[in-house]
Amino acid sequence: MLLSSAAAAAWEDPAAALANARHEFGEHGGVNMSIEASATFTVMDPKTLRKMFFDELGADRDFFIYSRHFNPTVLNLSPHMAVLEGIEAAYCTSSRMSTISFVLLQLDSNGEHIVASKTVYGGTHAVMSHLFPRACNITTTFVDINDMNIMRNTIEVEKTKVLYFEGMSNPTLTVANIPELSRIGHEKGVTVVVDNTFSLIILSPVKLGADVIVDSISKFISGSADIIAGVVCRPTSLVNSMMDLHQGSLMLLGPTMNAKVAFELFERIPNLGLRMKEHYHRAMVYA
Ligand SMILES: *Cc1c(COP(=O)(O)O)cnc(C)c1O
Repeated sequence: MLLSSAAAAAWEDPAAALANARHEFGEHGGVNMSIEASATFTVMDPKTLRKMFFDELGADRDFFIYSRHFNPTVLNLSPHMAVLEGIEAAYCTSSRMSTISFVLLQLDSNGEHIVASKTVYGGTHAVMSHLFPRACNITTTFVDINDMNIMRNTIEVEKTKVLYFEGMSNPTLTVANIPELSRIGHEKGVTVVVDNTFSLIILSPVKLGADVIVDSISKFISGSADIIAGVVCRPTSLVNSMMDLHQGSLMLLGPTMNAKVAFELFERIPNLGLRMKEHYHRAMVYA
């Protein structure tokens, strides 16, 4: 529901996929999407409201209720993020820290467990080692993800729900062996979640076997160090469950992206490829 069928071919031909996605915008025929800044939306037929709350309608059927739930402009931006990861579904949020917290809250319940790389981003480390154990009894064991034996043995059957690491870690630049980690994770029945913020466009974790991607938009995608934003990518069922009106962590706890911010980010996507090329070039010069 969050991206047209063109997404399936997105990784094979990202430029064409992006061009197709763009054609879905410009609601009035303009070359840019318009901004839907409404917090709340009208529903003319009371029966529709009942259907909304019983989950019989979806955003793909053009129903909008309130912008903490799906907002049309944020929903328009989201396929662009999905295309960057070569996948089918994404939804943007007000920060990546909120995204990761709500992904983990959706996948883990009280008493359950996460296995994470010990080189994760500082904020993520703090959430997992302090906030989650105190607030909801979700605990994390941090491991060296290059040691596959320790990794395998730390995953507790039934109790561990998530294997979490960064494609390339910030700031230590540890590169994850995503295919092998995903294989072990799936063998043990856990969901493999990858933060791809630092390896955007270089790595496609889903192609390499991961289940869920969380990216910070605040870094390369924004590009100007002036916007805090995040995105959760794939699978559609997880994104939808996070937006559920009764149970969804994103919908209920509310780290909403503002429609005007979504529009600003949309303007920066077309030159992201050029910027990334220049980042790589400069990194090689430094190296
Ligand atoms: C910056 C960063 C985050 C946090 O992102 P925010 O958008 O600031 O919440 C998480 N993970 C990595 C790897 C980062 O570099």
